[in-house]
Amino acid sequence: MNMAQWLERTAVMSPTAPALFHGTQLVTDYAGFRARAAALGTALRAQGIAPGDRVAIFMKNCPDYLIVLYGIWYAGAVAVPINAKLHAKEAGWIIENSEAEIAFVTPDPGAGLNDACPVMTLDVTSPEYGAMLQGEGDAPRTRGPDDLAWLFYTSGTTGRPKGVQITHGMLTATSLCYPLDVDPVAPEDGAFYAAPMSHGAGLYAPIHVRMGARHICPASGGFDSAELLETACALGPLSLFMAPTMVRRLTDEAVRQGADGTGIKTIVYGGGPMYRTDIEEAVAHFGPRFVQIYGQGECPMGISALSRDEVADRSHPRWRERLVSVGRAQSGVEIAIAGPDGQPLLPGEMGEIIVRGAPVMPSYWRDSNATAKALRDGWLMTGDIGSLDADGYLTLQDRSKDVIISGGTNIYPREIEDVLLTHPEVHECAVVGRASAEWGEDVVAFIVRHPGKGVEPDALDALCLAEIARFKRPKEYRFVAELPKNNYGKVLKTDLRQMLEEED
Ligand code: AMP
Repeated sequence: MNMAQWLERTAVMSPTAPALFHGTQLVTDYAGFRARAAALGTALRAQGIAPGDRVAIFMKNCPDYLIVLYGIWYAGAVAVPINAKLHAKEAGWIIENSEAEIAFVTPDPGAGLNDACPVMTLDVTSPEYGAMLQGEGDAPRTRGPDDLAWLFYTSGTTGRPKGVQITHGMLTATSLCYPLDVDPVAPEDGAFYAAPMSHGAGLYAPIHVRMGARHICPASGGFDSAELLETACALGPLSLFMAPTMVRRLTDEAVRQGADGTGIKTIVYGGGPMYRTDIEEAVAHFGPRFVQIYGQGECPMGISALSRDEVADRSHPRWRERLVSVGRAQSGVEIAIAGPDGQPLLPGEMGEIIVRGAPVMPSYWRDSNATAKALRDGWLMTGDIGSLDADGYLTLQDRSKDVIISGGTNIYPREIEDVLLTHPEVHECAVVGRASAEWGEDVVAFIVRHPGKGVEPDALDALCLAEIARFKRPKEYRFVAELPKNNYGKVLKTDLRQMLEEED
């Protein structure tokens, strides 16, 4: 089934139901949403886009994001959403790797894209784009459950992102788990897009389309606590996905304003570890409005969930223990813990978290080596270390990789190290995360200069700004005489992290 069928269905059943909002302004109802997306699909076909072709979306959050996403699906094509915060060079690499034929852009992220990679860009503020929404739209092209719907680029520890293949079947499965395991959706609800639509927040759009709910893109295009509190008062009930650091910022702002969160129905949090004190304070302030999910690109939003009651019910004897877990398996998957030999471990034993079920990817995009490492005997090896208790609650202990999670976004140290090492005065470097109350983790770079050289942070910062997204560049540069290494000459990042921890 093509995911666009859910939009067809809702447009027939509830044509006048309000669909897309920009801030508090209604942009269109479901009949209008369907008409524009279908017309765009037909226009894409007229431009030669065939089923299975890739079309990139390098856009900030806005109502046209959903029109473009569904337009691509009407044409039977594959959406390649790219985080609008990425550098044009990084986005260009993804476009090249996915062999996207066209890239839809909003003005800011789109700037510089064509210098990085020659691709036909369509600015959604241009008259050309407006004309594509005008025609008579055809029904969605037929797609099967194994056909690709979305190529989700997740970063790899090797520095280059990998394309997770998300099929229409996976999207259907993960969407159906939302009302079962996360939160029921009613037509009067509004999905509020505070986090990037290229990631988890966007993956929650289909179930809200299916239920005829509203979609609200903040006028700021991103996350602003005060704007969210205000919009919720005006347009609630709202549901939204937030990274743990966003929850912290929202609580601080609500406490400062004396706002009680009126109009916020549900905040789904996940994507990185949540500090226990932060969620306790959030629930104490806002009440039972929080649900946690654990997922990864390879099983998007779909591994486990900790329900609203489990997060909020302080009277439960095991409340605190469960609060620091990531909940139980969602309905679409089985979770197990594997030992070093791949054999299942017993409750309480710690090992690699492995997952199988309908929302798990079939493979990475054109990367059989990475696929062979990630998928074994039908199980997805998540690379996360954790344990299950006898009741099936999963607790994440650590990340097996060295990924830094800052503001809910994964930052892969190797990518930054590769850039820093291009500086002629940098001899060696190692990038690690340091705990930060505001962002979860901050990026810190340890640098060994070449003998007699005196490169300073300003020059390294300028180099990073030219090559990678702003949010990835180190918050601090430490100049050291040498890096701690093991007998094989491998840098001991654990020692560096420990050093930073001890200083704290
Ligand atoms: P990504 O593929 O970018 O979505 O990153 C997925 C990774 O984020 C997972 O493999 C975990 O390491 C981490 N993660 C996701 N959700 C949670 C959560 N609820 N608690 C702790 N870590 C999480």
